[in-house]
Amino acid sequence: MTSSMVRALGVRKSFGDLEVLRGIDLDVAPGQVVCVVGPSGSGKSTFLRCLNHLETLQAGRIWVDGDLVGYEERNGQLHVLPEKRLRAQRAKIGMVFQRFHLFPHKTALDNVMEGPSAVRGMSGADARELAGDLLDRVGMSDRSHHYPAQLSGGQQQRVAIARALAMSPKVMLFDEPTSALDPELVGEVLGVMKDLAADGMTMVVVTHEMGFAREVGHDFVFMDDGVVVERGTPADVLGAPQHERTAAFLSKVL
Ligand code: ADP
Ligand code: MG
Repeated sequence: MTSSMVRALGVRKSFGDLEVLRGIDLDVAPGQVVCVVGPSGSGKSTFLRCLNHLETLQAGRIWVDGDLVGYEERNGQLHVLPEKRLRAQRAKIGMVFQRFHLFPHKTALDNVMEGPSAVRGMSGADARELAGDLLDRVGMSDRSHHYPAQLSGGQQQRVAIARALAMSPKVMLFDEPTSALDPELVGEVLGVMKDLAADGMTMVVVTHEMGFAREVGHDFVFMDDGVVVERGTPADVLGAPQHERTAAFLSKVL
């Protein structure tokens, strides 16, 4: 159907009378890192949630790795997928939120093992080995037996990234992953994300970190009021925004 890893076409989403997404198109090629930037309330989180079918759509379609996300077509009509198939689709899509959402009563290792053993049906030993490798990858192997409350925000977020990776996702979605962190902890999380990008992970990253967008992003999308206002390379958009709204926003954050 498509060689894109992520494709969104004409995505519309309303909450009651409020139309939050007003026809979003987005293509993300395999291995590409797209940074999404825009004012608060512009619909960025809602769009990420649509990519994962945490929201139903009013119109439009989304494919991830060739799957039509959240729906199946029968007799020319779209029907919401049964829960089991939704879960299988979601396993391909890793999501990291602003808040870390770790299980507080589980150690770092157990948090990362949970998905592979409970959802993917991996044996305990295999899940433990995978979790250990992933904690190592995010620089957290020396904290694997700590509980979330014993970890800094940056460390919790790195565990959250490892936990998402444990499902072997095809794409990783990040929703302002460093916004809740103290400034001195931002770099360690961005460093892990940069390594992930260098390893070829397809990523959609909502962020206000323009340095990260410039250095790691292949594409830069500026969203405002439920539409994609502008898209280009980070150097182009940040250096010479083509739209007044983009320029006005960037002048405030740069
Ligand atoms: P952003 O992430 O860009 O700050 P959001 O996607 O969170 O924006 O929100 C976009 C708009 O949608 C906001 O006006 C927000 O209040 C509204 N919104 C988001 N989620 C809901 C919801 N579940 N119910 C009603 N309104 C919502
Ligand atoms: Mg948001």
